[in-house]
Amino acid sequence: MIDPAHRVVAAGLSTRCPTCDRVYPALERTCRDCPDALLRAEYAQRSFEPASDRGIFRYVDWLPPAFGIDTQIGPTVYRAEALAQAVGINELYVGYNGYAPEVGAFNPTGSFKDFEAIPTLLFLREHGVQSVVLASAGNTARAFAYAATLLDFTVHIVVPERCVDLLWCPVEPSEHVRLTVIQDSADYALAIECARLIEQEFGVFGEGGARNIARRDGMGTSLLEYARVVGAMPHHYFQAVGSGTGGVAAWEAGVRLIGDGSFGGRLPVLNLAQNAPFTPIHDAWTHARPIRPFDDVQSQVRRIDRIGARVLANRNPPYWIAGGVRDALRATRGRTYAVTNRQAREAAEMFCRVEGLPIGTAAAVALGALMQAVGDGRVRPHESVLFNMTGNDEALVARDYTLHPIRPALHLSAEQIASNHVTTLYRHFHE
Ligand SMILES: *Cc1c(COP(=O)(O)O)cnc(C)c1O
Repeated sequence: MIDPAHRVVAAGLSTRCPTCDRVYPALERTCRDCPDALLRAEYAQRSFEPASDRGIFRYVDWLPPAFGIDTQIGPTVYRAEALAQAVGINELYVGYNGYAPEVGAFNPTGSFKDFEAIPTLLFLREHGVQSVVLASAGNTARAFAYAATLLDFTVHIVVPERCVDLLWCPVEPSEHVRLTVIQDSADYALAIECARLIEQEFGVFGEGGARNIARRDGMGTSLLEYARVVGAMPHHYFQAVGSGTGGVAAWEAGVRLIGDGSFGGRLPVLNLAQNAPFTPIHDAWTHARPIRPFDDVQSQVRRIDRIGARVLANRNPPYWIAGGVRDALRATRGRTYAVTNRQAREAAEMFCRVEGLPIGTAAAVALGALMQAVGDGRVRPHESVLFNMTGNDEALVARDYTLHPIRPALHLSAEQIASNHVTTLYRHFHE
C-alpha cells in the first residue's frame, strides 16, 4: 500500500530499462514497453566513494534507500592464503557473507540474504510503503523476519509446511512478522501463488525477487567490498546460484565500478555454480536447454530431492529476461558449473580444515566449482578470485544466540489457494 503523503522522491536514484533505455521512478518494477526486462538502478553518484560507516551502508550511495542505519550487517572480504594454496592459486579472497565474528562477519541470519532485507525495507518505507509480502523456502524468510523485527515493518511471509522448521530468528520475532503456512505442502509454487493473492487482493507490496533493485544492489556489495579492500576488481567471481540474482547483482556492481574510472574496463568473469542433478541455469547456458518451470514438474522435483543445497532449487530463474542471468553471463564471458553433493562435501571439509570455519552447503557448491575450474584450467594460478561464501546457516549463530522459532499466524490449505478462496485471508488481514 503506497501512502502518497509519505512519497519521497529520492533525487539520487532512478531506474532504467536495459532494452529501450527509458527512465522510470525508483520504485517502478516493469517497463511499460518491455515487460521482459529487469529495470536497473541508476544512481546520481557515479564515483566509488565508500562512506566511513561500518556494515553495508558504507555503500549507501549505491543502494536504493537514501539513508542507511547503523548496522554490522554487511559484506566481509579477506585474503585466504592457506585456502588459496590448498586450491592451487595465488590470490584468493573469501567473501565470508555469513555469521562468524572471528572474521568480522555479523550477518545475524547466517547468509547474504541479510544484505537484501534491510535495504529493501528502508527503501520501501522511504517511499511510503507499509508492508511487504514474499514467498520463501528459507534464507530469505529468515532475513526478512529479522529485518521486520528490527525495523518495525510488517512482513508477510508465505512458506510451504515442509520448510517451517528452517525458519528461525536470532531475536524474538515481533508481531510485524506474519507467517502463513501452506498445509501439507512441499511445493514452493503454491507459496508463490498465495503471496501473489495477498499482493493483489490486499494491496500488500510484493518483495519482487529479481525485480527488486534493493535485493540486487544489496547482494552486489560483496564485489564493492572486494574493490574497497583490494583496490581492484577480481578476475573471477564464484557464487552458487538458484535464481542467479546474485550473479546479476555482481555484474551490475562491476559495471558501476567501471563507471568510476579507476578499476579498468574488464568485468570479473561470472562463475555460477549449481548443485547436480538439479542444474537448470547450467543446462541452459552450456546446452541451450530451455528452462521450463512448469513442465515435467515431477521429474524436476525428484532431482531437487537429490540435491544437498536446497536453497539452490529454483525452477524459474530470471534467465532469459533482458538484463537477467543470460545477459550477465554473456557480458562477463561467464561460465557455469554442475557440482555434485560429494564434490560440495569435500569442498566444505577442505574449507573447514584450512580456514577453521564452517560453510553452508550452497557455498560449498561454489567452492567445488572453483576446484573444478582450477583443475581444468578455466582459472589459472595467477588470476585473482573472489569466492562468495554466501552463507553458513545457523552453525555459529546458534553458538552465540538463542534461535527463536517463527510461529505461523495463518494456516491455509492448498484447496483454499487453488480455489482463490480468500475469505480466510481477508479476515486475517483486516482483523
Ligand atoms: C539465496 C542463496 C544463494 C543463491 O542466490 P541467488 O543469487 O539468488 O541464486 C546461494 N547461497 C545461499 C546461502 C543463499 O541463501
